[in-house]
Amino acid sequence: MIPARYGASRFPGKLMQDLGGKPVIVRTYEAAKATGLFDAVYVVTDSDVIFKEIEWHGGQAIMSQKEHDCGTDRIAEAVAEMDVDIVVNVQGDEPFTSKEGLAQVLSVFDAPDADRIDLASLMTEIQDWREISDPNAVKVVVDKENYALYFSRSPIPYPRDKNTAVQYFKHKGIYAFRKQALLDFYNLPMTILEATEKIECIRFLEYGKRIKMAISNTQGIEIDTPEDLVRANKVLKEEKRLPINNKYRNFPMVPKVVYGKGCFEQLASIIGPQRKEKAPFIYLVDDVFQNNQELLKRIPLRFNDKLLFISSFEEPKTEQVDVLVKSIKTEFSYRPSGIIGLGGGSILDLAKAVAIMLTNKGQASEYQGWDLVKNKAVYHVGIPTISGTGAEVSRTTVLTGPEKKLGINSDFTPFDQVVLDPELTTGVPKDQWFYTGMDCFIHCVESLNGTFLNEFSKSYGEKAYDLCKEIFLNPELDDDTAREKLMMASWHGGMSIAYSQVGVAHAMSYGLSYVLGVKHGIGNCIVFDHLIDYYPFDVALFKEMKQAHGIELPQGICKDLTESQMDTMVKIALSLVPLWENALGSDWELKINADKLKALYAKM
Ligand code: NAD
Ligand code: ZN
Repeated sequence: MIPARYGASRFPGKLMQDLGGKPVIVRTYEAAKATGLFDAVYVVTDSDVIFKEIEWHGGQAIMSQKEHDCGTDRIAEAVAEMDVDIVVNVQGDEPFTSKEGLAQVLSVFDAPDADRIDLASLMTEIQDWREISDPNAVKVVVDKENYALYFSRSPIPYPRDKNTAVQYFKHKGIYAFRKQALLDFYNLPMTILEATEKIECIRFLEYGKRIKMAISNTQGIEIDTPEDLVRANKVLKEEKRLPINNKYRNFPMVPKVVYGKGCFEQLASIIGPQRKEKAPFIYLVDDVFQNNQELLKRIPLRFNDKLLFISSFEEPKTEQVDVLVKSIKTEFSYRPSGIIGLGGGSILDLAKAVAIMLTNKGQASEYQGWDLVKNKAVYHVGIPTISGTGAEVSRTTVLTGPEKKLGINSDFTPFDQVVLDPELTTGVPKDQWFYTGMDCFIHCVESLNGTFLNEFSKSYGEKAYDLCKEIFLNPELDDDTAREKLMMASWHGGMSIAYSQVGVAHAMSYGLSYVLGVKHGIGNCIVFDHLIDYYPFDVALFKEMKQAHGIELPQGICKDLTESQMDTMVKIALSLVPLWENALGSDWELKINADKLKALYAKM
């Protein structure tokens, strides 16, 4: 049981303070749960906010019925009607609670003197006199068998003789009670020593209960002050700082994928095992399907599942993600079982971003970049309805934020499940089919001509490149086969850039899109059409494909730009360092500059 009071006197609201992306109380709950020592773990609280937060993170919480003076009373009330033998009290402000310490407290009940013990607790040796004399640290003295004699905020024993080799022990707020001892405590009035020292466990001693102390050597961090919180955040950061090997990237891939015409039918059985009680699946569906009853009735909505229609008219925005996450959090008190995106690259990216932001604090724009996401996303499923972007397989979700257009690129971004059903891509308008398909072609060109290329990327990129040529240059190919092939080309194209990068067309297209709102697919085409100096052979091929399908690209879109718009566009494009490095090598800054980019944009 983790008693959790919202208004701590020394540091109000401390349990809801952020610790590495989650509130302190959630960290403590998860740490207790992760020990695997308990049949059940509960947070017992007087606070609505804490209650909801725990449920939101999939934990179990109990609301206190009465006002309580202390944590022990709080948990006594909670267990009164439970059929339990031993109850362990873990302090809410001890997020680094270790398995070792808890196991030691529990082991006391396996010792030969177990039936003489009413409760057990932990102590740790301290040597720093500042800590010994600090009234915030409760000291304990024990007898020869480690039964507690007294607890105090004073240094006990008092070192009148400085030459004795006395050990000082600090009490750690972890208790394991026999249920009866806990209930006795609840029913017996507070006594004078307890009231004076403000130390709960003195009450047990005053009523003659036996407290056995176990010794722990692990120094956890209690969050008593704002300074403790800063320290704890630092510790967490250091723990998380995994050795990153830049030379060989270790990246995740989509763990489960189903492929085949009509496989969308299997969605219910695929996601079924991921459903958590009372927690809905949220479907983000492109609003192009709003009136497509045939498709809508195949979406397996159950219980409180929710379907949200989303427009892909504009490029996805960080702000849009924040609004979606807020509305989901407001409507549901349980964190969703999963987020399911059904649509093109825009919707797939939104689904990934929403899944991430449901478990990570703050705003989506804070996570634009590489490896900034702290917590695992909720389960998320991608179901493409148009092929080419590779968003279904990639490690990023491209978003336009207040300051930049940049992906949330992280190990937690890729989908947990992808459903590749070529049938779903029927009905895509011809122009759009071409633009999104060309995104795949351009991914391959940029990856295959990039300096980051290796055999891994090449093996995917070459396959996707060949498929694209077949799809867009072979008039004999029937529509069904073309759809199947493009779906797999998209997948391979996405895999190819997973281990390399895109290049000039993407960097410049991001600029266009940021300033003019030009959508990704068509923006890439507009840019690529002018990149003959960079990709001569493939730009020629692109022009051939364009002609074969009678595609006319908009012209002169940059001619009315103000100087400051042009500057922003160039700045956005040049900020995408890895893209330029891939395209032009590590000395890319010698090869491209603002003036060259402006001249290129001016032609578009
Ligand atoms: P999109 O998702 O914007 O969809 C394009 C148009 O096609 C929309 O009007 C949509 O309503 C329509 N559409 C989709 N499926 C349809 C269907 N079955 N029938 C009829 N109409 C349909 O376009 P996109 O090109 O797939 O995605 C572009 C987005 O993907 C951009 O935001 C881009 O940044 C992103 N992207 C992401 C990655 C990544 O790795 N995450 C890679 C490339 C692109
Ligand atoms: Zn792209």
